[in-house]
Amino acid sequence: MASNQVRVRFAPSPTGFLHVGGARTALFNFLFAKKLKGTFVLRIEDTDEMRSSDQSTLQIFESMKWLGLSWDEGPDPEDPAKSKGPHAPYFQMQRVDLYRKHAEELKAKGVLYECYCSEEELDADRKHAMLEKRPPRYSKRCRHLTDEQKAKAQAQGRKAVYRFAVPTDQEVAFDDIVRERVVFPADQLEDFIVIKSSGGPTYNFCCVVDDHLMEISHVIRGDDHISNTPKQVLLYKAFGWQPPKFAHISMILGADGSRLSKRHGATGVMDFREQGYLPYAVVNYLALLGFATTDSQDIFDTDKGWDMLVEKFELERCQKSPAVFDYTKLTWMNGIYIRRLSKDQLLDAVRPYLTGAAAPVSQLKEFVALEQEKYQLLSDAPKLLDFFFTETYAYRWEELKALKIEGLEQVYQELEAECAKLVDFSCAAIEQMLKGLAKRLGKKNAHVFHPLRFAVSGRLQGPSLFHMAEALGKDKVISRLKRLALERVAAGIS
Ligand code: GLU
Repeated sequence: MASNQVRVRFAPSPTGFLHVGGARTALFNFLFAKKLKGTFVLRIEDTDEMRSSDQSTLQIFESMKWLGLSWDEGPDPEDPAKSKGPHAPYFQMQRVDLYRKHAEELKAKGVLYECYCSEEELDADRKHAMLEKRPPRYSKRCRHLTDEQKAKAQAQGRKAVYRFAVPTDQEVAFDDIVRERVVFPADQLEDFIVIKSSGGPTYNFCCVVDDHLMEISHVIRGDDHISNTPKQVLLYKAFGWQPPKFAHISMILGADGSRLSKRHGATGVMDFREQGYLPYAVVNYLALLGFATTDSQDIFDTDKGWDMLVEKFELERCQKSPAVFDYTKLTWMNGIYIRRLSKDQLLDAVRPYLTGAAAPVSQLKEFVALEQEKYQLLSDAPKLLDFFFTETYAYRWEELKALKIEGLEQVYQELEAECAKLVDFSCAAIEQMLKGLAKRLGKKNAHVFHPLRFAVSGRLQGPSLFHMAEALGKDKVISRLKRLALERVAAGIS
């Protein structure tokens, strides 16, 4: 591999659904790789056996697929338990031999030491530190144990963890593409655990080994990991490896300034899908979040491909300050993307929300599209088109009353009779029939059109009346006129 080749990775832990924060990290890695013609790696960090699950792993794949974030190396999308790429496997649990080998290497270098402190002792230390208003860091009690002390601890049945002996006299600093120079004074770092008492390696250790072996050039991740980075820098140094470049992107907060959580609304990528967002809208919104463009209102052509977004994307322009997730703006963007869909695309997109629509697809397509301007969410479809899915839609009586149509009763009787007579129940024939009726009754067209619209949809706003009547068909239109006649009497409107 050429040393200047860009290789980035997204490394989720499959301990739950893919949060929008994680999705944004994935997106930024993906865009960065695309922009610099690099490689985007997906690595599954599943070493937390208690909390990791196959279900979460599959949900992460599905979320990324939905967003269009395809990876060049990583789990094989065709057969997710397998890996595809020159550095396979990409599941950490399948790489434990590699970690073991590298842990031995560090032990041999003398930078790790055994620690036999029990949970109770560590807990007591933490409480003590807090009482003294000191940060709760490991006391280094075991740093210089003699062989006899170790043997004694072992004889007591204690199991050792291996800690990294952090140099006490040096600060750890690194350059960050977003946060610039980041410095951790030596006294802010504790001797962190590298190997757990179970023999399993910790996140920081696996991460460094993998990022090195997978030849990762840039680590782009959320800045909740910033306190891990000095530990990782120390590990690189101990191995004698060159660290990658780092970019820590800001957190996503809710409107109240706390970290975005369920309390604020949807947070899982799949929740957004379920609620009726289009993937392009979510991608577009996430891209703008914390990423200042000169025209930050931009709607990118993400539905047509990645080019525009890739062109605009610059890691250097990511803001240091946290980004606030604005559901209203995302929903507004979603409406814009919905309006851009073709009739076929719209129908496909809203179909999951239209369960119970007993209408032929050809008719449905026209209907769904007729209200296209009004959608904010795909899930608005049943609400916008309830009269098309149920015979028990509600009537907005106040709208009909406000029209103050003279002789409404007669208009309705005539409408029913004319519809019954009409053989060709097509859009054009319906229009002609209604106009003829208005003329015959000496009324404005609107005073015939509106009552029919009201009868078939329960409201005065909606899709083109003639199309709607044609799509519903003669029988339904007549039965709806009959239903209205009954309900109108009950509502006292004549
Ligand atoms: N598995 C870590 C997480 O999900 C990855 C952190 C990293 O990118 O280094 O937060």
